[in-house]
Amino acid sequence: MSAGAGSSVVTSPPRSYREQAPAVAERFARLKERPVILEVRDLSKRFRDSTGAEVVALDHVGLRVHRRELVCVIGPSGCGKSTLARMIAGLDTPSSGDILLDGKTVDGPGPDGGMVFQGYTLFPWLTVRRNIMFGPEVSRRLSSSLAEQEAQQWIDLVGLTRFADSYPHQLSGGMKQRVAIARALANRPRILIMDEPFGALDALTRAQMQAYLLQIWRNVDVTILFITHDLDEAVYLADRVLVLDACPGRVRELIEVPVPRPRSREQLVSPEFAATRQHLEELIHPPLQIPTEKLPLGRMTVVGDDVE
Ligand code: ADP
Repeated sequence: MSAGAGSSVVTSPPRSYREQAPAVAERFARLKERPVILEVRDLSKRFRDSTGAEVVALDHVGLRVHRRELVCVIGPSGCGKSTLARMIAGLDTPSSGDILLDGKTVDGPGPDGGMVFQGYTLFPWLTVRRNIMFGPEVSRRLSSSLAEQEAQQWIDLVGLTRFADSYPHQLSGGMKQRVAIARALANRPRILIMDEPFGALDALTRAQMQAYLLQIWRNVDVTILFITHDLDEAVYLADRVLVLDACPGRVRELIEVPVPRPRSREQLVSPEFAATRQHLEELIHPPLQIPTEKLPLGRMTVVGDDVE
């Protein structure tokens, strides 16, 4: 999908993003009854930049994600999205505050947090099957034959049965990301942390991958935290969207997406979708301070030769 800014089509006056149809409200009520899988408590992260000045990447951030919930995190560049993802995966440590997965403090990388990045992180020298078997064999210490059986289930689930014995260089970008998802899921994580996983894909493949992800998520007991800067992607995928402000990274708002499930591409033009997207747009891209016609620009065309 990744339709650019301003590409949403509003077919009828948008309802408020706070309005929920009864089925959607009931679903959220049920969701909140489920156990909390991820709890981020008063989390702050400070870095030093190259001049030694302090950068507050995250400032007292709090979040609770319930079992099998899909939460998207959006915000302007530099608001701490990747820092948050890395700390939840145990790849970085908080300056203060806590992260709990299933009630246990995250104090390093472990099997409970599976990560999928934008860049392809497959082992190029291993086939699809071997890439997926790697976690079950090494982290979960399954026998080779059990790991292979499990890998086959994941390969089928992500629709790559015909490519099980292919190497990563023989696959398209979308297929590589499907392997990356299968490989992360094969470790049976409690949470799948996806940091801009479809950012490098073309628009059509990205749309297909979003649909695939929703399909996979419906069939697997996994909670997903999905980082993106694409507003359409966030509204299409998420139960809730966490909006972060930049400098310092703080929670701006946590939005319940009123678009019913199961989701389909047709909903991209629904009033609920449009209202939510518009609200996110206002939060993330406030109106320009300087009108564009006042921006300093020289003229390199003949006067009168205007493109309107
Ligand atoms: P986002 O993913 O939202 O673009 P990041 O989490 O990458 O934001 O970064 C948040 C802020 O923290 C930025 O100002 C970035 O420059 C800073 N930052 C991130 N990692 C480091 C680091 N290792 N050292 C110093 N500053 C960092």
